[in-house]
Amino acid sequence: MPASMISSGAAPTVGPAPIPVGEILPWAVFGGLLLLLAVYFVGAEEGATSLIPGMYVHEYLHDGRHLLGFPCH
Ligand SMILES: [Zn+2]
Repeated sequence: MPASMISSGAAPTVGPAPIPVGEILPWAVFGGLLLLLAVYFVGAEEGATSLIPGMYVHEYLHDGRHLLGFPCH
């Protein structure tokens, strides 16, 4: 019997490799900024706070605004 088939009694531990915080932090900040930008465009891109003139962005995100419960009309 080969030595690799002999059970040592302990199950091998297999798990995800740890990710260092320094590697994931820039991506977390980037994702957070994208999320904030999305929340701005869905929730506040209309009227006095509008960055883009016209109603195109407002109408494009209109269903999302109502789905998330932002005040609209
Ligand atoms: Zn509406």
